Amino acid sequence: MHSTPVGYLTQKIDGSVCPVPQVSGGEAASNVFLMSTSASAGSASSASSSGADVRATVTDRLVDANQRYAAAFTDPGMDARPVLGVAVVACMDARLDLHAALGLDLGDCHTIRNAGGVVTDDVIRSLTISQRALGTRSVVLIHHTGCGLESLTEEFRHELEMEVGQRPTWAVEAFRDVDQDVRQSMQKVRTSPFLLHTEDVRGFVFDVRTGLLREIDAG
Ligand SMILES: [Zn+2]
Repeated sequence: MHSTPVGYLTQKIDGSVCPVPQVSGGEAASNVFLMSTSASAGSASSASSSGADVRATVTDRLVDANQRYAAAFTDPGMDARPVLGVAVVACMDARLDLHAALGLDLGDCHTIRNAGGVVTDDVIRSLTISQRALGTRSVVLIHHTGCGLESLTEEFRHELEMEVGQRPTWAVEAFRDVDQDVRQSMQKVRTSPFLLHTEDVRGFVFDVRTGLLREIDAG
């Protein structure tokens, strides 16, 4: 029988590529940060009694950041319709800062992200709502160099089934040729019967080393 644990697949991918869901577990400890307040500085040993120094999860850290954000926040009074009338579909890769890379400001666009920036049925769902309810007309697709999906195959689904006893209903959407995958994604958008606007659909590969976009010819 197949004995390779699914976690092995994630280990084959080096740290420079986008994250792949961890199936092997045991990662929780690495997501805990030691957080301290100014009141507890230099006095870790008394932390438990004072309660000032706590083991916080990464989510606690985000919530903490949000309180600082909200304290300085003023309602910009924006409409939900993207100012630039564009929807960007991109990989979830942590190195891809869409707003900075594309010169976008708050309120400018819809961003739809998943592993690979793949045009799935659910991405079509979001694009359909984006166009029909919120007035976007242009679609920009962004894949990138060093994507984790280049390291996987559909065999990943089989590995999952062997481990958990259930075959996922979704495709892994792995690919070997990023240019070709961008072309295929453009084609899926252009041929969707649900979208109102398919004239301005362009696809790119973002180079995580240089920060540059390379446009892919629709072919
Ligand atoms: Zn990626």
